[in-house]
Amino acid sequence: RTLSGTAIRQNTPYIKTHDRIENPLDTKIFLDNQFLESSATTWIDLHDPATNNIVTRVPQSTAEELVAAVNSAEKAFKSWRKTTLLTRQQIMFKFVQLLRRDWDRIAARITLEQGKTFADAKGDVLRGLQVAETVCGITSQLTGELLEVSTDMETRSYREPLGVVAAICPFNFPAMIPLWCLPPAIITGNTVVMKPSERDPGAALIIAELAKEAGLPDGVLNIVHGTTPTVDFLIEEPRIKAISFVGSDRAGKYIYTRGTAYGKRVQANLGAKNHAIVMPDSNKSQALNAMVGAAFGAAGQRCMAVSVMVTVGDAKRWIPELVELAKRLKVSGGFEPDADLGPVISPHAKTRIESLIQSASDEGAEIVLDGRGYKVDDYPDGNFIGPTIITGVRPGMRAYDEEIFGPVLSVVSVDSLDEAIALINANKYGNGAAIFTRSGPVAEKFQKEIECGQVGINVPIPVPLPFFSFTGNKGSFLGDLNFYGKAGLHFYTQMKTVTALWRSEDAVVDDLNVNMPTHH
Ligand code: NAD
Repeated sequence: RTLSGTAIRQNTPYIKTHDRIENPLDTKIFLDNQFLESSATTWIDLHDPATNNIVTRVPQSTAEELVAAVNSAEKAFKSWRKTTLLTRQQIMFKFVQLLRRDWDRIAARITLEQGKTFADAKGDVLRGLQVAETVCGITSQLTGELLEVSTDMETRSYREPLGVVAAICPFNFPAMIPLWCLPPAIITGNTVVMKPSERDPGAALIIAELAKEAGLPDGVLNIVHGTTPTVDFLIEEPRIKAISFVGSDRAGKYIYTRGTAYGKRVQANLGAKNHAIVMPDSNKSQALNAMVGAAFGAAGQRCMAVSVMVTVGDAKRWIPELVELAKRLKVSGGFEPDADLGPVISPHAKTRIESLIQSASDEGAEIVLDGRGYKVDDYPDGNFIGPTIITGVRPGMRAYDEEIFGPVLSVVSVDSLDEAIALINANKYGNGAAIFTRSGPVAEKFQKEIECGQVGINVPIPVPLPFFSFTGNKGSFLGDLNFYGKAGLHFYTQMKTVTALWRSEDAVVDDLNVNMPTHH
């Protein structure tokens, strides 16, 4: 018998420093490189999703704290923007090294607050860490343009930081999403006010501690907390020039619409409904394993989770095998070494997901694997739902039309590839779509015809590595410049174009001209 999750938590060497100082219950704000007690009068209780024990209280930052965070970032911007790229790069190298050093510690905090398994939480950290590693190459990624446009005259164009930028993050990737924003924003010379999810801000605070240790000057990163009042402040504050948002449709549309109305640059990654087509010619075990991993990993709480499997033709005969595979998954507390999936984030999420499962049954679909009411002996109070598979799902059913964001795989069966592509193209979202096939021409047709921003060919969760960008489209993205990669660097910078004329010192200048210059 392995050590129970509770025992690991009690003995874990990772949960230390600001988690344990003074009042361990209260989450701190991070202002001017200091962890401070908030003067909040409103607090949000944060519970371990595996036990529903209270872990910490998260403050709704006060108006004074929010203004202080922007003051700090504004002041820091004046000197931070003047640091050389090489100085900022050196800090980023060190930051990367510290993230690796404290990788397990950050992951443990994620498992405690968010619930995902420790192994999966390590992946959460890694995918963010890779963004930090990649932006270390800033010196060759951000070179400008130059052309001699006329005699003695050159035009050069290059990128400058925006100023103070804000990041508003979701609960499901407590390290990765803050790290989609922080490294590209600061390496390009901006300063940041970050609002992690009020449901699991602990990882972002460890990241802040490491950024400070890496040498990030006071005020370059500030962390505030809370819900809508904090978001409204960030939208309305004129000194904030841009907002990076990742989260649900409802919040994202609100932030994009209001943020742009206030003249800000906004990038907003929203919800998803990711389909994976399984062709009858595909490698069956590869396809079925991929479906189970991508649908149920992280308890389905990934924006790139496969939530709809589309079987074409005879591939529907494999559903019983799919169910057998899914039954093998171990559902337990995220610290349990053999857990495949942990709990969902809250009792409310559990109720919502279970009611969507019920709605599918009420609307004529068949629940072939039912994870409702799932009990884990060692964690009787956790928000657990077992892997759930629903067949006979169709557009128009709530379980198809809504993002479930839980360990639920809907199966739609169609007769042809054209039908499968039409189904996906009719869906409002465009985050991810995948196909499993052994045929090159089929994969090629899918790639060309599919209206979706991130396409997997025999890859179920095609999240691009940070040398590319995260390119969801249609209803899954609002804005023009995507997160990370080249687009991410462009999001956090604006162009400056300089035209310079240097005549020789003894040149006789007698060309007074009032006409529009043509540079001929
Ligand atoms: P959420 O929208 O509830 O919360 C995201 C952030 O917005 C939080 O910081 C929260 O405090 C704030 N917020 C919540 N409601 C708000 C409101 N009414 N007004 C203003 N701000 C508000 O999202 P979540 O539940 O934390 O995250 C899950 C969602 O995020 C899913 O829909 C998922 O698909 C999406 N997501 C998308 C991506 C992507 O890259 N497309 C990645 C991760 C998560």
